[in-house]
Amino acid sequence: NIPAIGWNFDNSYLKLPEKFYTRTIPEPSRAPELVILNEDLAETLGLDVTLLKSEIGVNILSGTEIPEGAEPLAQAYAGHQFGNFTMLGDGRAVLLGEQVAPGGQRFDIQLKGSGKTAYSRGGDGRATVGPMLREYIISEAMHGLGIPTSRSLAVALTGIPVVRETFLPGAVLTRIASSHLRFGTFQYAAQWGTFEELKALADYAIDHHYPNAKNQENPYLALLRNVIARHAQLVSKWQLTGFIHGVMNTDNMTISGETIDYGPCAFLDTYEPGRVFSSIDQYGRYSFSNQPKITGWNLARFAETLLPLIDKEQEKAVELAQEVLGDFGNQFQEVWTAGMKAKLGLFGHEAGDEELIDDLLKLMHDHHADYTNTFRALTMDKMEDSPLNGKEGFGEWLTAWRSRQAEQTEDEETARQLMRSSNPAIIPRNHLVEKALEAAVSRQDYSLTEKLVKAVKNPYAYEDAQLEFTQEPPEDEERTFKTYCG
Ligand code: AMP
Ligand code: MG
Ligand code: MG
Repeated sequence: NIPAIGWNFDNSYLKLPEKFYTRTIPEPSRAPELVILNEDLAETLGLDVTLLKSEIGVNILSGTEIPEGAEPLAQAYAGHQFGNFTMLGDGRAVLLGEQVAPGGQRFDIQLKGSGKTAYSRGGDGRATVGPMLREYIISEAMHGLGIPTSRSLAVALTGIPVVRETFLPGAVLTRIASSHLRFGTFQYAAQWGTFEELKALADYAIDHHYPNAKNQENPYLALLRNVIARHAQLVSKWQLTGFIHGVMNTDNMTISGETIDYGPCAFLDTYEPGRVFSSIDQYGRYSFSNQPKITGWNLARFAETLLPLIDKEQEKAVELAQEVLGDFGNQFQEVWTAGMKAKLGLFGHEAGDEELIDDLLKLMHDHHADYTNTFRALTMDKMEDSPLNGKEGFGEWLTAWRSRQAEQTEDEETARQLMRSSNPAIIPRNHLVEKALEAAVSRQDYSLTEKLVKAVKNPYAYEDAQLEFTQEPPEDEERTFKTYCG
């Protein structure tokens, strides 16, 4: 009698036409070993933590054994990579199935780094422990920050060395998302599928993510409208917290509006709109300030795939899609401005609000001020801790901000509460993440990673915020920091 971990799989992706996937068994690990397990998330999923940590659990989390009820597959998709359209697919990931949690909610359970698939092209299908832990830390931080994201259940070592510049320890990340449908999945269907196959995919996406679209006059236009709204929200949240995704290819943009694919991503330290961290983004296509524009571009590529479904007449379809797409910029601006006002503890709308926001950003930019800590100091009303303290222009700005706050009917405490829930005290700072990963990779010391994860999961807990996690990097380190695709 084998004790049950709690798996409760549905495999609805298999009901899509075969063109959308290839059944794929993960490659077994040589020496499975658990590095980190997300116990809260396991419980949300209805999984037994003790059993997940036992041999059978670790075998599953390393791709060595298939859990009961799972029918693993690799998903097919295409995408625009830095503007160039190409066939892709899960080259190093396998979807085990959808876990139906005790509350009825569905979660994709995906193993990343579990070996070659039909879509690996020249790749080895593997991942190394550093980048997988990096994804674990940052995705959990994003969740803590309240930004829609895939999550990380576990990282397990495979015991299989992976060839990069040197040999590195191989690892598997168990990734959880409401689905892994991408703009690129639709691009794949539009490019190589029949009308029926495209329609099957769109209907699947509607059923899974936007069931209300079904009752609309034009369900596929409603799907587009919903995806646009979610992405206006998503990219606003990235901009408000200083998150740089780094590789906003259309295959990395989800239909659900969740952030996925934590490769070369990083958070801003000093405020610099043109900041790029990724070593492969030579021309700054995915720089911080370009992210909203790129989201718009990606949404247009997604909209193109839906045209045959939106209307039989192409001209009519284009007209309808364009009208919906045209609203993205306004939606982004609206959500972002509302978010910025919350960060400043401002209620209502006054004529000078935009200027107040722009002036603060300009001060941060001019004085190379730390983005997170500037808002943190305002929130704590501790200007002596502000990166802008004593800088030219900050005193005047403070006076203007305080008089705007004094004019609103909400009292100071209400404004402070709003600021505390809008300005994280803690983000996964690049220099701290690197330190944790260095210990993990070179010394198999995972204690710093555990500590950092614990801290970033509660970014708004001002009382508990340990000062070590709010520390800015040495200036030269921040300027030269680069990220790599793992
Ligand atoms: P990404 O840049 O992470 O979005 O990955 C782009 C594409 O490359 C996806 O199709 C991945 O599955 C694939 N890929 C990335 N790394 C590997 C690898 N080591 N082996 C095989 N495919 C990979
Ligand atoms: Mg990707
Ligand atoms: Mg990736």
